[in-house]
Parts: sequence; C-alpha cells; structure tokens
Amino acid sequence: MQDNASPAAAGQVGYVAIEQPFGLQPPKVHCPICGQQQFVEQDDEYLETPCEHLAFVFGGEEDEFVYASDDFAERFARFDAELDARFPDDEARASEAYEDASSFYRDLFAQRLQDLGYGASLLALRITYGGLAEGNPVWFSDVYGFDYALIREDDAQ
Ligand SMILES: [Zn+2]
Repeated sequence: MQDNASPAAAGQVGYVAIEQPFGLQPPKVHCPICGQQQFVEQDDEYLETPCEHLAFVFGGEEDEFVYASDDFAERFARFDAELDARFPDDEARASEAYEDASSFYRDLFAQRLQDLGYGASLLALRITYGGLAEGNPVWFSDVYGFDYALIREDDAQ
C-alpha cells in the first residue's frame, strides 16, 4: 500500500545511545548520509568540518552545544523564547517544572528535540566514551544530530 501523506515532522526522533569500551579515544563520527567526517584533528586541534546534514553537536565535556546549524540555532532560539514566556522570572525558573522543560539530560534529550520541532527525520546519535583523567576514570557523552529532512537527490547517488 502506498502512503501519500507527508510524514513531515511527524513521528519520534530517532535516538540511539551507544557506549564505547573504556579507554578508547572519542569517536570519529561520519555523516550517515554523505560520509563526511564531522571533526578532524590537525596539529593537536579539533577542527569542525560539518556537512550540510549535521544539525548539532552536543559536547559532553563542554556540557553544551559545540556546533549548531543555522536551522538548529533558529529552532533553539524559538524554544528559548517560549521558555522565557512560560518561566518569566527567577522564581519560576527555580521550579522543578522549569528543570523538566529546559534540561537536556539523558532521558530528556530526545524530548527536547521533539520540542524543537524535530521528528522521525532526525537521527540523534549519543556516544559515550571513557578514559583516565589524572588517574581517575571519566566518562563523557557527545550527541550528534543528523537531519534526514535535508537529504537531496544527489546525496543518494
Ligand atoms: Zn552529510
């Protein structure tokens, strides 16, 4: 049966969480659509080399978004403005409801992406990796978002 209805922003965000074995370097993530590597190391520096399908990168070590496409930045600004309207002052922001509505913690990440208007066209890949820092084990989780709504016909060739 053919389904002619546009699935547009409908459906659940694709959210996949995986863990690397302890002690391995952070992953070299390539775009699942075009194959481009998203960060490259050059002279001990990590350079962003995003392709057009990358919506965002959340850096676990930085605990914030370290890359945002223009589209993602616009969605985030709208989301932020809505939060401001719902929780206008410090008192409102001290509430648990604000925490639930604004956090990008583990279980809430996929929900936040839905709040940003993403659906089944988005693949969020969460990769957890661990190593020793000054003799202590530390774990970080990075999240990469790839937007299949931005796929073009020549990407598939
Ligand atoms: Zn790509």
